[in-house]
Order: sequence, then C-alpha cells, then structure tokens
Amino acid sequence: MTLDVQRIREDFPILERQVYGKPLVYLDNAATSQKPRQVIDALVDYYENYNANIHRAVHCLGEEATAAYEEARAKVAKFINAPSPESIIFTRNTTEAINLVAYTWGRANVREGDEILLTQMEHHSNLIPWQRLAAEKGASVRYIELTDSQTLALDGLENLFDARTRIAAMPHVSNSLGTINPVEKIAAEARRNGTLFLVDGAQGAPHLPVDVQAIGCDFYAFSAHKMLGPTGVGVLYGRPELLEEMEPFLGGGEMIRKVTYEGATWNDLPWKFEAGTPNIADVIAFGAAIDYLDHLGMENVREHEVEITDYALTRLSQLEGIVMYGPPDPRERGGVVSFNFGDLHPHDIGTVLDHHGVAIRAGHHCTQPLMRTLGVSGTARASFYVYNTPEEVDVLVEALEATRDFFKR
Ligand code: PLP
Repeated sequence: MTLDVQRIREDFPILERQVYGKPLVYLDNAATSQKPRQVIDALVDYYENYNANIHRAVHCLGEEATAAYEEARAKVAKFINAPSPESIIFTRNTTEAINLVAYTWGRANVREGDEILLTQMEHHSNLIPWQRLAAEKGASVRYIELTDSQTLALDGLENLFDARTRIAAMPHVSNSLGTINPVEKIAAEARRNGTLFLVDGAQGAPHLPVDVQAIGCDFYAFSAHKMLGPTGVGVLYGRPELLEEMEPFLGGGEMIRKVTYEGATWNDLPWKFEAGTPNIADVIAFGAAIDYLDHLGMENVREHEVEITDYALTRLSQLEGIVMYGPPDPRERGGVVSFNFGDLHPHDIGTVLDHHGVAIRAGHHCTQPLMRTLGVSGTARASFYVYNTPEEVDVLVEALEATRDFFKR
C-alpha cells in the first residue's frame, strides 16, 4: 500500500474504540472524517495556552492567536495553490461558502432570463442556494445529465453554455457516486463563454491534489471536517478580483473599515467576508490537519484511495445481487462506493452493519434528485480515507453477507 496505514492509524484515538463489542470499522468518511491526535492537540493547546480574540487585542495572547489563525489561512492557500491568502475566506462549512457566492455575487449579477448551470449529481448544498436565487430573480436552472455509468454527459461540451449562462457550479467529486468531474475542461469552456465557474470541492480537496489556478475556477468551496479537521470551518476560495468586487455577506464587527451613524466602508480581503468573531480554535486546528495531509502528500492520499476503492469494487462485485453506482474504473472516481444489495433497504443494511462495528451511510446522501434519476429511494455508501485498510473492506463484505443471511431467515 502507498501509505503506511498502520502507522497512520496510531494517530487516531477513536480507531481504538469498539462498537457493540466489535472493532470500529469507520467507512463514513464522505460524511465526516475522524481526527488525528495532532488536530485534537492543536485545539487543546489553543484553549490551554493562548485563547484570545483575534485582530483586535494589543496583548500577547491576542497576538499569538491572530498569528496562528492567519498562519492557518496561509497553509490553506498553499494547499490548493491559491494565488494569495487573501483569496481564502473562512466560513462555517461548504454550504455556507456556496451560499455566500449565491447571495452576494448572485444577487448582484443574475437577472431575469439568465441561466444557472448545474448537474444532475448536486448535493443539496450546491442546489438549494441556486434554486432560491433563480426563483428570486426569475432566472432558470439547467442540469447537465448523466451517462449510463453516471459520469457527466459532456458530448458537445462547447454547446453547454449559452449567452445567458451566468454561472456554472458542480461537484469536483460526487458524494453519492464517487464520479470525478473533469472540472479543468469545463472551466476552460466556461471561461471562453464568459460564464463564472464554482466547484463544490467538499469531496475534492480532502482526497485529491487540488490546484485552483490549474483548474481555472472562479470559486472553490470545501469543509475542514471532511479532511481531518474540526467541524465548524469551511473555506471559500475566490478569484481575488471577483472577491474585491463582491459586497459583504454578513455585516458586523471585523468586516468594516470605518463606521458612522450614516454608513460604513468595508475592510480589506479576506476580512470583509468574516463578520464577527470567527471560529478561531477550529481554524487553527484545521491548520494542523493541513500539515498532516501535507506530510502524507496528497498524491499518496489519492493513490491509497485508488488502491482501496479498486479492492472494494472487486470484493463487492463478487456479492450476488449487488448493484454499484458510478464509473467502474477506480481512477475515474474518488473513494466512495454506493450500492444496493438485493431487495434490502439501505437503512436495514446500515443498521445491521452497525452491529458488526461497520459505520456506513444509508439514504439519499443529500442528493434526492439524483436518487430519483437513478430510480432508487437511496443507497448504502461506504467511503474511505487515509486510515482505512483492505482488511476493513473484508469486514464490510463479511458483514454484508451476514446481513443478507439475517434477512433471509
Ligand atoms: N457538497 C458535497 C459534494 C458534499 O459531499 C457535502 C457534504 O456531504 C457538502 C457539499 C456539504 O458540506 P457541509 O455539510 O460541510 O457544508
């Protein structure tokens, strides 16, 4: 295996626990990842040693906290090769990052008769903000359809955009199918057409090497909690010229330069978009998560996931009655395997697996329209990360066999 997984597992205290007397097999990483000791320690270190508000204190603790918070921003910028730390806005999560764009850029630029281009595989996070914007402005939403192997139907890519397409937004990697979308190619076409391009990177940044300048996107959104970091921190990368032009999202402290009774002027980037006291501790600990991933190397993280997904696809395909979704080639997909098994309901699968210590996700995965397109009410989904092993895939397969036998009785 590319990564020294046994060594990595030692960094994750939760992997030592048992569930219903069985060792935990955590395969719900697309929902949220587990956290290494280094991230937990960074949180404790902040609260024990330099807890203070940032950007406003003249005292030592405040200066240390400010430096650590801004250092985390610089790490994130480097991690995705953003042109500057100022192009990184901290939000609560991917959802808030996308809402920020729909609310600020969208309200100012989308007009009646305009079009927003999405795909049939959107997470609700990258669907509802655009549907709301379209309804408010009298714009329409169009969806790129799927091929039989659940990749985007991009034949005729050059005709995908028309003069009214103001923005296109889509996942880098589908959370339900695993499909990796060719975002570089689509970004180039969007640029030619004068259409802005937002990538929902919630399943991209944690799993693939990401270079926002090479992709050529205008916005890239992702969440710390899916990449070894704490909950409560999201990232919006925006092309600096665009962020400069955009109005603030929330108003309050920190995002202003000068305030009078009559009005206010705005702070510089990125603080213009970070109103109020931010999530200081979790941002700093996110910096520790980035260090951890940098140390592993994102190329290696990706290679590990290809190996384990390949193994999972092979093992699962040996089960009679299994239906798997997404492209069959592990190089065309992230570490997500969605499936249905005979006539078992995904929730029943999830519940029985849980009693074997195996944590998976079951349901619509916040992609209800996609489930309708697939003609199912939901799927069971196993999703992998840096600490998962082929032996855990074996436990999953054995537990699935036991589930089938349990319901046969
Ligand atoms: N987009 C995709 C593709 C996701 O998988 C998720 C989370 O599962 C989100 C957006 C939303 O992320 P968050 O809940 O952290 O805002």
